[in-house]
Amino acid sequence: MLTSCTSLKTITKASGIKPTELGEQDVHDRQKRLPFWNQGKISQSSIGVVGCGGLGAEYLQKCARMGVGRLVFCDSDIIQLSNLNRQPFFECQKGENKALATLENLKGICTAETMLEAYALDFQDLKTIYPDAFANVDLIACLVDNEQTRHDVSAYGLKHGIPVIFSAVSETSLNGYVSVQIGGGPCYNCSSPIADSNPSKKQCADPSVIYIHTVVIGVAVFATAWLTLGKNLPWNFYPLNLDAESTPYLRKKRAGCEACGGIA
Ligand SMILES: [Zn+2]
Repeated sequence: MLTSCTSLKTITKASGIKPTELGEQDVHDRQKRLPFWNQGKISQSSIGVVGCGGLGAEYLQKCARMGVGRLVFCDSDIIQLSNLNRQPFFECQKGENKALATLENLKGICTAETMLEAYALDFQDLKTIYPDAFANVDLIACLVDNEQTRHDVSAYGLKHGIPVIFSAVSETSLNGYVSVQIGGGPCYNCSSPIADSNPSKKQCADPSVIYIHTVVIGVAVFATAWLTLGKNLPWNFYPLNLDAESTPYLRKKRAGCEACGGIA
């Protein structure tokens, strides 16, 4: 039985599904049929995920199905009944930590020998208590509802040269975005300066419906696969509007950005 301990580290390994067990093709057969796909790259990839709520837990499930080799994730939040309209948890998991509960749920979803590491901590505490937790990840997905954490993850990615994918949804559940911080491109602070934000703002009781989560996570997983496969992503910002057109584009650095300097 999992507890809501806030500093527990859990590591497990799901068993891979062998073709002979299914009596049919390799479990990844359909995605391997894509001409550009390289399952070896996906299987060897290591991804860090910050946040295991409506966005993060959903994203982790998709990555587990694709066969990502290692998933490291953290969240200090506890599952509430009001999460269940959009977050992939069960009623019996009410009161459990979201990261640890996600690990349990992923065991039944993994299609490969995926290493799972769950930390019942927010990103700031994770960095302090387990500073090497994200040290060897190839990519970080920041899927939280907290502006300060986005800036902290952005700074971590800049410092360690790790690409970061950000995603969020609006309070109306009609809009969201996926933003990619990579290489010499703009950082999170280029478009959302910390000086302009209200870091303490966090409204857990915001209205929320599942469809926008599904849309943005689909795009975030696409960006993850694309970058992992070494393909050039033609955009770094994808606004997703259910009530208007959605056109991805390349954002530019902001001159004088306090975090990255704004120098291309
Ligand atoms: Zn910047």
